Amino acid sequence: MVNYRYLGNSGLKVTEITYGNWLTHGSQVENDTAKACVQAALDAGITSFDTADVYANTKAETVLGEALKGQRRQSLEIFTKVYWPTGPGGANDSGLSRKHIMESIHGSLERLQTDYVDLYQAHRYDHDTPLEETMQAFADIVRQGKALYIGVSEWTADQIRAGHALAQDLGFQLISNQPQYSALWRVIEEEVVPTSKELGLSQIVWSPVAQGVLTGKYKPGAPAPAGSRATDEKGGARMISRFLGDDELLARVQKLQPIADELGLSMAQLAVAWVLQNDNVAAALIGASRPEQVAENVKASGVVIPPELLTRIDDALGDS
Ligand code: NDP
Repeated sequence: MVNYRYLGNSGLKVTEITYGNWLTHGSQVENDTAKACVQAALDAGITSFDTADVYANTKAETVLGEALKGQRRQSLEIFTKVYWPTGPGGANDSGLSRKHIMESIHGSLERLQTDYVDLYQAHRYDHDTPLEETMQAFADIVRQGKALYIGVSEWTADQIRAGHALAQDLGFQLISNQPQYSALWRVIEEEVVPTSKELGLSQIVWSPVAQGVLTGKYKPGAPAPAGSRATDEKGGARMISRFLGDDELLARVQKLQPIADELGLSMAQLAVAWVLQNDNVAAALIGASRPEQVAENVKASGVVIPPELLTRIDDALGDS
């Protein structure tokens, strides 16, 4: 089963391995496969699910809502996000204005077939809307019970600090930030994590296996495996391209195999376990194109990587 961790200094517990459906539901995979992945997550003990209105232009929320239908709502933690446009486009169809936030939460609740989401997240920072307006809209959504908690995604340390202060004045808490984080992408360690610890926010981290790269299946000089994200022309290939094409990086990743072997883990499990060693991380957000990947990766819950092996991981990846 999957361990729970508290989200920030709130009382909300989330599964430290949380299932996310970016690029897969409503896009790369058929709905039957999407449902099978959600079922595999539930079977493994995952109760926290992350999506966003913009994923597959709203279809990801619809597919997740269908897949979770019939589950006991109290036993689930459902997260979604607002920021990017989802419709044909209109003057107010993006950003964190009061109008876009209010329109968006209604759309998300309808597609997810629920009366409330547990966590509503600002998908990015909006430089064009006064932060006071954004935070007031979030405060109202919490008071209306449409979202129980508020988080942000990919905000800088300064943005988090400013949002946190306003939220406190308005009587609620920012409890999480959702950044990219993996053994190949450690930017948050410098400023975001220390600031979040100080203010009582957790990280819910995305792409812990670097979209598949840290599974070791992309070999230097070799074509990408059939059916992988790198071959998904609906969007995945473009998103993962930043990691591919760098044979030196792919060669370094291969050096993690003996370390995974020593721990009796697959490379995917090692990558997920690695992000969970950071005590400011409340959850690793795993994606999956098939149920077997969920069943495999979820076994990273509770794994402790000894300090000497963490150092060897740094050495292998050139982070020391
Ligand atoms: P991962 O790093 O977990 O990558 C998932 C992909 O890697 C899978 O779809 C699969 O792709 C491959 N993979 C995973 N496990 C295995 C395995 N055991 N063996 C082989 N291949 C494997 O995370 P994602 O990039 O999918 O992101 C996860 C979640 O994070 C998203 O669903 C979303 O909720 C969130 N997110 C948030 C963002 C934000 O801005 N806030 C941005 C991006 C994501 P395949 O089989 O197709 O190769």
